Order: sequence, then structure tokens, then C-alpha cells
Amino acid sequence: MDPSARDTIFENILTELDENALYVLENIHKHGPVTITGLMEITQTPRTTLNRSIKVLLDKGLIKQDGLETSTGGRPSAIFNINEDGFYTVGVELSHTNIHVVICDALMEPLWIADFPILEKSTPDEVFSRVFAALQSNLAEVVSEPRRLIGVGIGSVGPLDLKRGILLNASSFPNPSWQNLNLRSLFEDRFNVRVHIANGASAAAMCEYVRYVTHGVHSLVFFNVGVSVRAGVISSDTLLTGDGDREGSYGHLIIVPGGRPCYCGRYGCVEAYTTAPAIVRAFKHEIRKGKSSSLVDVKSLDKIQFGDICAAAKKNDGLSIEVLRDAATHMGLLMANMINVLNPQVIVLGGTVPDRFPDYFEWAVQTAEKMVYNSGQVRCQFATPSMGRNTIAAGAAAMVLLSAMKGSDPS
Ligand SMILES: [Zn+2]
Repeated sequence: MDPSARDTIFENILTELDENALYVLENIHKHGPVTITGLMEITQTPRTTLNRSIKVLLDKGLIKQDGLETSTGGRPSAIFNINEDGFYTVGVELSHTNIHVVICDALMEPLWIADFPILEKSTPDEVFSRVFAALQSNLAEVVSEPRRLIGVGIGSVGPLDLKRGILLNASSFPNPSWQNLNLRSLFEDRFNVRVHIANGASAAAMCEYVRYVTHGVHSLVFFNVGVSVRAGVISSDTLLTGDGDREGSYGHLIIVPGGRPCYCGRYGCVEAYTTAPAIVRAFKHEIRKGKSSSLVDVKSLDKIQFGDICAAAKKNDGLSIEVLRDAATHMGLLMANMINVLNPQVIVLGGTVPDRFPDYFEWAVQTAEKMVYNSGQVRCQFATPSMGRNTIAAGAAAMVLLSAMKGSDPS
């Protein structure tokens, strides 16, 4: 057994259920609204066992009767669905600049959303004490009984020790004290609930998964393109984590042998072409080579930022469009490669870059569709993130919910 494994058992309203009731709850969550007959087919469980579980779930307020299904001939049968007030989760996104928090109901709808900036002077103690105070008072308002809070999920930047729930030697925080931080014990000690830690891209992938799985999607890739390229992969209903925290490694797949230098010391990585800093570098490089742009008429070259290039492209500046299109094309190549390897049903592409310049998404998709192997037979859909700014935090909350319904211990 892992020496760092915890022996604390956190009890909540779902740990009070037996295996059968938990299984029925999981299926109502996945397939609801649903009738007993529907549940019998899905779960292959006899009606008597199902009736017993349904009664327990109704008594505990975890599900509710949601009308009657009238069929010709027979008696109308009750339709069951998750009771949105039956249980709650908390989702937290830790990025280099913010802590974003949501309290979600049982249907994963955010009931409370808050954002706490991490400034140059902000130490973890200072920021977390503000987060905890706000969270505690809002939980007291939203959650009727403490046992209905089933856990906290954290989607964080890395590097992470996922087993022990620790943010390791993180760089890029505005204050150097964000190092070797035991996120799991911070939250466990304060809220006395199960805490699930994942990297942010995995959490975002999970957020999309719970939205799409009801439509028969079992394999999905989430890409976040901003300062870096991060990816979360779900294959056949399983989140791929590999060994350790590898979300950042997708950005260092080599797509142009001997290509542009990457800060990792190699050449031709995805991140040297597709990200906001890469787009700014490419723009400046082209200007220095002698190309012209309306942007340099109004702003000195060293002050030009990603947002300026997007704004200029929207006003039809030729060079700005060219560098954005080139970046999107390389992103599309990465997407085509991922489709070839993983054959996902959905690819979600989000992050600052496509957010600020939506054509980036379109161009990346066009390239992916063109470059994929056997394109006539690929049925991958492309989408933007379904919950916008809340995607990572809500996804972290969804991870808690999924593992609690399976009765398994997180991470
Ligand atoms: Zn690299």
C-alpha cells in the first residue's frame, strides 16, 4: 500500500448508501429522467431490488419523482431524476494568477462562483484564508446539512504530486511562496471532506465529459491554448493520467523537425508555434524581416502584445491574420495527430487564444479535418468549452461527484 495513503474516512450522505443504491443513483444521474422499467434495462437489476434502492434514495432526498410516463394500456409509471438539492460539490481552479471557486448542485449547476486574484504580495496563507472564509459562509447558506457536501475537487497548475495532493516546485506564481503546498490537507483540515486533486486540463476534460457522456460520448480530448498548450484526455470513460503529472507535455510534441527553438531546449515543439507568446514572437520576427503591418504604425514593436495582434487581425491587418492563421494551422496538426492516436469522439479547444480570436478555432478545425488520416471515416466533433470560465473548477467538482458515485477513493 502507498505509504502516503490516508486512513481517514470522510463520511457524507453518499457514503451512507449501500452498493445497490449507489449504483442506481449513478445511473439516474447518467440517464435521468428515467422510469423503473428504463432502470431495469440499464442496470440489469430486478424490480424488487430497484424499488428498495429507489425508496432509500427518495427518503434521503437524493432523487425526486419527476412526473409520470403514460403508456397506452398499462399503469402510468413514475419518472425519477436527481434532486438538485440532494448533494453538493465544491470545485476549485488554482492558476498562476487566480483561485476560482464554484459550489455546484447535484446536477453540476454552479450556485456560487467567486474569483480570488493572486497578486505579487499574495502568500498562500493570505489567499486561502480569504477563499476559506468566503466559501464557508456561502456553503452555510447553500448547503442544508454538512453531510450533503460530498467533497472538494481541485484543478491546479503543476507540477503536482497527484498521490499526495501537493503543488511541487511551481514557477510563474507572482509570489515565490507558492511552493510545496499540500493542497489536499489544507482543504481536508478545513472542510473535513474528501479532496480530489487533478491537473487543470484533466479537470476541464472531465467537465466536458459529464456534459457529453449523456449523449453517448466516451472518448474526448480537451485542449487549452494560452501561454502554453495543455491537454486532458478521456479514453473509453477513463481519464488518462499516465505516470505523474503530464498535462504540459502535449505542448512539447515535435511537429516541425528542426523547426523553431522552444524554451525547453529542443526545436519544433507545438508550443513554439501555437500559443499567445509564439504568435507575438512570430509577428515581431516577420516585421524585423521586412514585412509591414498597420499595427506598427500605431505602436512600437517591443510593446505589441497578443491582444493587439488579435485586434489588428479583426480589422483585417494582413500580417496579424497571417501569424494567427499559421499558429492555428499548427494547432490543427496537433489535433489531427491526436485524432490519429486516440480516435476521440469530441475535441474541445479552449483557452485565451481561441477565446480572444475565434477564427483560430475555425482554422485549427479545418486543418485537423484536412490532415487527419482516413478523413472520410473520422467522426470527431469539434467544440468550444461548454462552461466558459468555470470549466476547470466545475470539472474538478465533477471528478468528486463521479468518484463518490463509484464509491471509490479519489486519486
Ligand atoms: Zn518544447
